[in-house]
Amino acid sequence: MSNDLMEKIVSLCKRRGYVYPSSEIYGGINSCWDYGPLGVELKRNIKEFWWKSMTYYRDDVEGLDASIIMHPMVWKASGHVDGFTDAMVDCKKCKLRFRKDEINGEVCPECGGEFTGARLFNLMFKTHIGAVEEEASTIYLRPETAQGIYVNFQNVLASSRRKIPFGIAQIGKAFRNEVTPKNFIFRMREFEQMEMQYFVRPETAEEWFDRWRDTRMQWYAEIGIKKEKLRLHEHDKDELPHYASRAYDVQYQFPFGWEEIEGIHNRTDYDLKSHSKSSGKTLEYFDGSNGERFTPYVVEVSAGVDRMLLTCLVDAYEEEENRVVLRLPPRIAPIKVGVFPLVKRDGMPEVAKKITNELRRHMKVFYDESGSVGRRYRRQDEAGTPFGVTVDSQTLEDDTVTLRSRDDMKQVRLKIAELPGKLTELIKVDA
Ligand SMILES: [Zn+2]
Repeated sequence: MSNDLMEKIVSLCKRRGYVYPSSEIYGGINSCWDYGPLGVELKRNIKEFWWKSMTYYRDDVEGLDASIIMHPMVWKASGHVDGFTDAMVDCKKCKLRFRKDEINGEVCPECGGEFTGARLFNLMFKTHIGAVEEEASTIYLRPETAQGIYVNFQNVLASSRRKIPFGIAQIGKAFRNEVTPKNFIFRMREFEQMEMQYFVRPETAEEWFDRWRDTRMQWYAEIGIKKEKLRLHEHDKDELPHYASRAYDVQYQFPFGWEEIEGIHNRTDYDLKSHSKSSGKTLEYFDGSNGERFTPYVVEVSAGVDRMLLTCLVDAYEEEENRVVLRLPPRIAPIKVGVFPLVKRDGMPEVAKKITNELRRHMKVFYDESGSVGRRYRRQDEAGTPFGVTVDSQTLEDDTVTLRSRDDMKQVRLKIAELPGKLTELIKVDA
């Protein structure tokens, strides 16, 4: 049943232009996916809402966009060169590679062959900078965006004239050479993160950690994710990553089980101190009010963009008797409104096109005149478009149209002139 649901979602994504297998004409490439016309809009809308929630709606977070390629010393200091590894075993017979913690028996689950001993496999993608491929020119594609924030702590502090507590937010690609990518866009080798690092006085870190946990849960409610499908999992001491003193996972109930979509960590002063030691530059904070110097603690909230997008799709997907509907909240829906002439004659397409052009300036609109109006509604229901405007014969007499809601399929009549205001209101209020 659950795999069945994932298959349906993967198929809808392809059919409607949300997500395609990457390089498909060459047979695809494992774990790489491309976002189509609707996928890219949904992704932008999710990122936009996160970005605004961090840097517009609050007064204590600055933005940053650091480069993907960084000085190799960054990854030495962060612990990734030495510690970002999975223990792997290979099957001696069929040569398949497995994560040691993911195999149950003593033999290969594929062919029954014997395993080699476990070997450590670094998850960072390595490449070379410049023309010479030698050890000294080895660089890495960043495995997380957080380090770009830490190494810019002093720059942002000085140029923004911030005082602690404050945060730095960043959205960007990260790369991990996962040996077992899986579950569609849930675990990919190339993915995007939305991370915010919040710098605080050490003695207030626990309080901020709790506060950010609550703020993030509130964000999921605002974006419209079903409450009963979300939960917090606090890490036991022995589950904690090396850099954190406390950690929560925000988990969502996917068809393949409860899985992490965001991590909330108290990273202490681990990263700033490591970079300070490794670079020889001070990354301390000077408090002008009392002359005190200290290394701030960091509370991190780190969410996956692709996982969030999958969460939104899974959460919105519903099958009804006569239709499949994606109940995406209007705020993040790729297309906000479809505009349809009831029939392709009597001047209705002309009026509908005029409405489309007027609405374009306010929101993403889709015009469709082909096929029966019922089929056009169904297509948009499946694409997640929350509203539909239909031009009919009455429009030609009194300048009114019908406005159909995707969720309850009810229609109301209103003046064409009222459309931009009404739709703008509906898109914001509901989200
Ligand atoms: Zn095997």
